[in-house]
Formats: sequence, C-alpha cells, structure tokens
Amino acid sequence: MAEILFGAPVAAAIRERSKTESDALRAAGIVPCLAVVRIGDRPDTASYAAGLEKGAPKSGVEIRRIELPETVPQEEAARTLDGLDRDPSVHGILLLSPLPKHLDADLLRNRIAPEKDADCASDLSLAGVFSKNGTGPAPATARAVMEILRFYGIPTEGRRAAVIGRSQVVGRPLAMLLLRGNATVTICHSRTPDLGAVLREADIVVAALGRPEAIGAAVLGEGQVIVDVGIHRKEDGHLCGDVDQAEAAPLARAITPVPGGVGAVTSAVLLRQVVESAARTH
Ligand code: NAP
Repeated sequence: MAEILFGAPVAAAIRERSKTESDALRAAGIVPCLAVVRIGDRPDTASYAAGLEKGAPKSGVEIRRIELPETVPQEEAARTLDGLDRDPSVHGILLLSPLPKHLDADLLRNRIAPEKDADCASDLSLAGVFSKNGTGPAPATARAVMEILRFYGIPTEGRRAAVIGRSQVVGRPLAMLLLRGNATVTICHSRTPDLGAVLREADIVVAALGRPEAIGAAVLGEGQVIVDVGIHRKEDGHLCGDVDQAEAAPLARAITPVPGGVGAVTSAVLLRQVVESAARTH
C-alpha cells in the first residue's frame, strides 16, 4: 500500500521556518506584512481570506485586509494596488480572484510589483519561474507540490515527471519547477491523445486537470509517486481530488490525500513567500 504524503507536517515545517525568520526580521524592525485585497463580497474569497488570517501568526506574518466594493471602478482598484506597491511596510500583495466581471483581471494582476507578488500572479513574476535560476516567488500551489516532494525525500533529479494540466497557475509553473529540479518533464493537457501511454512511463505523476477522480488505474502505472492537486466537492458533500484515490493508492508507491494533501500546504507557502520578500528588503 502506498505511503500517504500528508500535507500537515510539510505545512508545519514551512510555518516554523517562516516564524523563525520573521522573528529575526521583527528584531530588526521589519514586520512581514501581506496585503489581502478582496473586491466584492463572495463567500469563497471571504473564507480564503479568513483562513489566511487564521494561519498568519504561526508564520509570523501580519495580514492587512483591503476590502473594495463589488462596483469599484477599474481605476480605483488599480490605484489601490499601486499604493500597496509603493508602501514599504507591505511585503506581499494578494489580489483574491475571481474578480467582478466589469474589472480587467489581467490588467490588475499585472499591476502587482513582482517583488511583492505573493502568489506570483503577474506575467513578470511568472517569467522568474520560467528562468533557469529564478529567485522570486512561484505560484503557491505549484511550489507546494515541490515542498511536499522535498519534505518526503522524493528526488526529482533524473526522474520522469508527468504533469496533467497546463494552466498558468498550476501546470505550467509546476513543470518549470520540476525541470529546475532536473526532472524530465512531460506536460499533458486536454488534447493529449493517449494520456495512459505518457503517464505509465512517469516516476512522478501530478494531476492538476480539474476533473473529479478522472485519473485512475486505466492510465496509471505501478510504483509511482502521485500528487493530486485537484479539489472538488462531491454531491454527498465529501471532498475529492483529480485522482481516483481508491484505484490509485493500491498501485502507487506514494500518494497525496485529498483533503489534507497539497491544499494543506498552499497557504503556508504563500505566507512563506511574504517572509522571503520581507527578508529581501532587509
Ligand atoms: P484549469 O485552469 O481548469 O486547467 C486545467 C488543465 O487541465 C488545462 O490545461 C486542461 O487542458 C487540462 N485538462 C482538462 N481536462 C483534461 C483531460 N481530460 N486530460 C488531460 N488534461 C486535461 O485548472 P487549474 O486552475 O490549473 O486547477 C487544476 C486543479 O487544481 C483543479 O482541480 C483545482 O481545483 C485544483 N487547485 C488546487 C489548489 C490547491 O491549493 N490544492 C489550488 C489551485 C487549483 P487544456 O489546456 O487543453 O484545456
């Protein structure tokens, strides 16, 4: 049976590192601060912001909440982000999405200064992920996958990794991080003709396709490390991932659970990137 790669100990270790570094920064007069910009009153962005706020003290990060009304004009939203870019007491900016329809999301996310872009949302920040030795932030979910592999001592060097999904927030940047870890990476997507033929060749399979329990025994091999990035609520109220865990776990060498896997690590990584950004200003 597969080793279960729980996210909680990974997140705890990341938070501990962040807290130690934050304490040193605070002693030097720098309080790592994340500005969370929320536009409108969606319950999903509210619960995400509340979760971050709850976890922030354990990482030594202060949260500054910025709430803008649903009808905020584009120029005002842009001015708010510009102000945070200029504010030296803010080290990270997170613009919660989705945004109201009248706003230009691409324009706003590209307004965030790369050095403060806590979730690596702008094109300029992403360019850092695609560069060979990028030192800036990475999209938190993509980095969370790498942190899990590192924590559990799963090497990427020389291994074949298959990433299912090529989105700007997960699949693409993750493929670049794996490549930086010297894996041989294949990116699969909805036009990949024979998914099973690619996946069965891989040592590490990362599922980030956004299809509940779509990856199962029919496309997987034996003895693989499987990382399930997906998160969905089923009709019965339970959460599931993009991997059919019941089929995959008996085949796998190791597998991340859902819930309690990648999702448990993402916010710790996001807050870690705020502390790293604060340290760069020091
Ligand atoms: P997305 O933007 O919808 O992208 C999905 C990707 O999967 C696309 O590239 C798509 O291909 C590909 N795809 C869709 N169906 C496929 C199929 N049958 N076979 C192969 N590839 C297929 O999704 P996302 O935002 O990257 O999110 C991916 C998953 O991660 C979702 O389940 C989401 O809920 C989860 N997520 C989790 C966290 C976390 O913290 N745990 C954070 C963010 C997202 P095309 O490009 O060809 O359309």
